Formats: sequence, C-alpha cells, structure tokens
Amino acid sequence: MAGRIRDADVAAVRDRSPLADIVGDYVQLRPVGSGQLRGLCPFHDEKTPSFNVRPQVGAYHCFGCGVGGDVIAFVRAIDGLSFPEAVERLARRAGITLTYEGGGVTSRAVTSQRQRLLDAHRVAAEFYAERLESADAGDGRDFLSARGFDREAAVRFGVGYAPAGWDTLTRHLMGRHFTAAELVLGGLAKQSSRGSLIDRFHRRLVWPIRDLAGDVVGFGARRLAADDPGPKYLNTPETPLFKKANLLYGADIARREIARRYQVVVVEGYTDVMACHLAGVPTAVASCGTAFGSEHVTVLRRLLMDQSEHRGEVVFTFDGDEAGRKAAIRAFEFEERFVTQTFVAIEPSGLDPCDLRIQRGDVAVRDLVADRVPLVEFAIRGKLAGFDLNTTEGRLAALDAAAPLINRLKDRGLR
Ligand SMILES: [Zn+2]
Repeated sequence: MAGRIRDADVAAVRDRSPLADIVGDYVQLRPVGSGQLRGLCPFHDEKTPSFNVRPQVGAYHCFGCGVGGDVIAFVRAIDGLSFPEAVERLARRAGITLTYEGGGVTSRAVTSQRQRLLDAHRVAAEFYAERLESADAGDGRDFLSARGFDREAAVRFGVGYAPAGWDTLTRHLMGRHFTAAELVLGGLAKQSSRGSLIDRFHRRLVWPIRDLAGDVVGFGARRLAADDPGPKYLNTPETPLFKKANLLYGADIARREIARRYQVVVVEGYTDVMACHLAGVPTAVASCGTAFGSEHVTVLRRLLMDQSEHRGEVVFTFDGDEAGRKAAIRAFEFEERFVTQTFVAIEPSGLDPCDLRIQRGDVAVRDLVADRVPLVEFAIRGKLAGFDLNTTEGRLAALDAAAPLINRLKDRGLR
C-alpha cells in the first residue's frame, strides 16, 4: 500500500466532482431558490425534503438528521467507503490519475477492494456480452428473439451469455490479474466440490445488474438448457457490492425519467423491464432475485422526491394469476410508506409486459400502464372476491374483511 494521496490531488478531485451531479445519482434534487437544491435525505427516512445542497460551495446539509459535508464526505457516507476509497472512486469518475506520497499511481495495486470488485464486474459483463455473439450461444439468442428482443436491444441492456466451460470466466479474469479471493468475494466464481475455482454461471443468459451510479454490481442469470438442474433464475449472492434488498434492475437508466415524470412502474422481471423501456415506458424497474420490499420503497421515494399525495404515482404491475393477486395485496403494505398515490396495472388475460409486447405490441404495454387502478381499490376487490355478496351474512363478513384496508387509507375523502 502506497502512502497518502497528495493534498493537491484531493483538491483536484473535489474541484472536478460536482456535488449536485454526484448526489443526483442517488436523490432527486429540485431548486429551492438562491442557488440551492433540495431532496429527500438518503441518510434518514423523511416525508418532506430537508436535504440541502449548495452546489457553489460544494456542501450538503440535512436539516432533519444533521449530516453534512463535501462531495468526498457524501461518497464515503453513501457507499460506506474510507477516505482514500472515496477519493479513488471520484478520481476515476473525473478521469484524474492520483499520485501518492512516496510515489505510485492509482493503476498499481493500490486500488480499493470495492473498486477492484467493480472492475472485475465490468470485465465480466464485457466477457458475457461478447459471448452472446459466439456459436454456442444460439439458445440464448433464440430466447431473446422469441421474446421480441433483437440484437440492438440485447446490446442496449448489455445482455450476455455465460458459456458452458467450468471456469471460462474465472480463467479470463485471472488472466486479467484478478485474484481468486476477489472472484469469490464478488460472487463471480465459487469453490467446486473438488476444491477448484469454477464460474458461478454456466450456459445461462445473463443480465448485468447496475447500481444507481451505473456500475455493474452483479448478474441475473436465466436457465436455458433443459438439463440444467438449477433454478430458473440464479443471481449473484449477497456480496460487498450486491445488496438485493435495495437494488432495482433498470433504476440506473430509469431514474432520470422517474424524476421527470414523477412516475415509477414496478414490474416483475428483467425481460419486463426491457419490454417496458423499449415500448415507451422508460420508468420501469424490477427487484432482483427477491420480492419488492421495504428498502426498495426507500430508494424509489428518493428518486421520485415523494412528498406530495397530489403529484406522482407508483404503478405496480403483477401477473393476472393468483400469485400476482397475492403479490398485489402484499404491495398494499407499502401503500402507506409512499406519500404519493399507488396503483396497480393488471392485464386482464394475465400477460406480463414482455408477453403483452410480443402479442400486441408497444402500444398495449403503454395502455396497460395508462389503465392502472388505485392499489387500494384492487386490494379491496380482491378481499371481497372471497365472499358471497348476495347474502346479508356474506356482505357483513366482507365488510369486516375490508374494513382494516379502508381504515389505512391516507386519503380521507377516498375513505
Ligand atoms: Zn437526513
């Protein structure tokens, strides 16, 4: 490990890392006059924005929880980095080569562990994407084209193919001087039962999953071969980079439209996100290998700058089947976490956005979202469906069942 980063370099990094841009990767900011910007604080849960950014000064401050500092402090806090790690990350973004007291430059083994893992994922994503063009990836290309995705769409979303060999990616990354320990820590490789290092994914279609800053932090991999004994979808396990409780697939490309339109559409799978974006619903995101949960709500509220019940909407799409109905009723748990209104969009014949686009085209996907109904209405109808409303007893029982939902409505008029 080389010495301290030179003060002059730290100052250069600070100068060339606009605070509003860096914060804007995580939080939607709006001007509030006198050159200041404000958004929902990423460090505490709040209903109205009190996170203040002064771009000219390069400082932020939260009036709610009291945190504050400069751009380096922000990156340290939001990504849990040490001071040199945060400076390295910003230096990379700004294209600055750091020098260290006592010699040495960034490129020589002084890079932080987090940056090493990000680099390994970037190389892995390129490797998978190239493999999708290879002769043995025919079933991967067939899968995509059967779902209405051409080569251009695959390239746009970085879809790739994990080849058949046991350690093809592992050898490729070790050839690029990544260590076995880094590959295991990042979830790219694992120990086989015989003790050798093997790739995590084999013969699968692979989607790179990016964080809000656009860096690949993991992969979702779809089974293709009939003799593949694994589950239909396999994801990167929990790693220092991959925290599935707050990752949303597509959020890196959707976040600007989410902020602009005050809308987010939550779908169920990677192909649904692709279908929505290609069909003209650029606010679609999906959870990765886990159900949509409480931490996802927190992330979306910041991207939406969720502070008014009269502006903005969260639209959940679920399959029309029984599992989809259950998921929709579960989503009602989140209704009260959002300040804005929540909706559900369910296709009557049970098609997900991907199938809908194949069968009826882009317009049908946009119509699905446009025809959304309030989540609460849907949840109450779901509850009532179990009762015979033709009898007095049935109606009373139904009322009892629906009352708790109605009580939780935040809109008094609606209640
Ligand atoms: Zn705060």
